[in-house]
Amino acid sequence: MKLCRFNDNRLGVVQNHEVLDVSAALDVLPALHYPYPVQDQLIAHLPQLRSRIENLLPSSLRLPVSQVQFLSPVANPGKIIAAPVNYEKHLKEVLNDPGIHHNNQISHIQRAGFFLKAVSSLQGASKPIILTMPERRTDHEVELVIMIGKVGRHIAAADAMDYVAGYSIGLDITIRGPEERSLRKSPDGYTVLGPWLTTADDIAQPGQLELALHVNGITKQRSNTSDLILDVPALIEYASRFYTLYPGDLLFSGTPEGVSQLQAGDSLFARIENLGEMTIPIQGPI
Ligand code: MN
Repeated sequence: MKLCRFNDNRLGVVQNHEVLDVSAALDVLPALHYPYPVQDQLIAHLPQLRSRIENLLPSSLRLPVSQVQFLSPVANPGKIIAAPVNYEKHLKEVLNDPGIHHNNQISHIQRAGFFLKAVSSLQGASKPIILTMPERRTDHEVELVIMIGKVGRHIAAADAMDYVAGYSIGLDITIRGPEERSLRKSPDGYTVLGPWLTTADDIAQPGQLELALHVNGITKQRSNTSDLILDVPALIEYASRFYTLYPGDLLFSGTPEGVSQLQAGDSLFARIENLGEMTIPIQGPI
């Protein structure tokens, strides 16, 4: 199932270039009282939600995909975990370009671990990316994103796929320079998730997906998730050794080679096999 959030916080299912409005299914979510849980309630209740959605689909309102505004498919992730370098060729590219690395802790993922991006940096596929520091090099990074579906800590790789709610396309927009990653990668809008969530049951082989990113029609990044150094189960095992993972948490799996600078006026296109595609304008500061 391809689940989306659209327009004014509507819930939708994407089928054949249409969005079916199933917002009425949100009534299965519990009423909550302070203090609110640090997990996304929609993702935490996905099984109940799905059976309600199935009942609503035949009578739901249909809108063309081209006429809706997509929001991030998860509204309230507790954290955004990201792998800094998880493709061998991107590691070499970064090490060979002083304009990228600034001697800033570049090494193999098994040594570098993860970093966190601010949840306030998250936006969906229908918004432009507004450059925060246009005087500084700002790069695109396209990534397979894993959305966590249930609570877990110390998850073994062999069990890890049971903890996946689904997958989306991610953009980890990055200002290059000497500052900490959590600053350079977390301005508002620098974490894009979209265009929707494809649930795990629809993706049999997350380690066999083509991914590509174009800028102004020119291919910049093209790879396959089979080139990941740590694959999806290994990433979940590694992250859950440090963090309790909660429903709605996002795991950015790292970007392949081909990162390059974005300029105001550019048009960015990102696609991952079976997960959709999105076209996003790049704008200068307002
Ligand atoms: Mn990245």
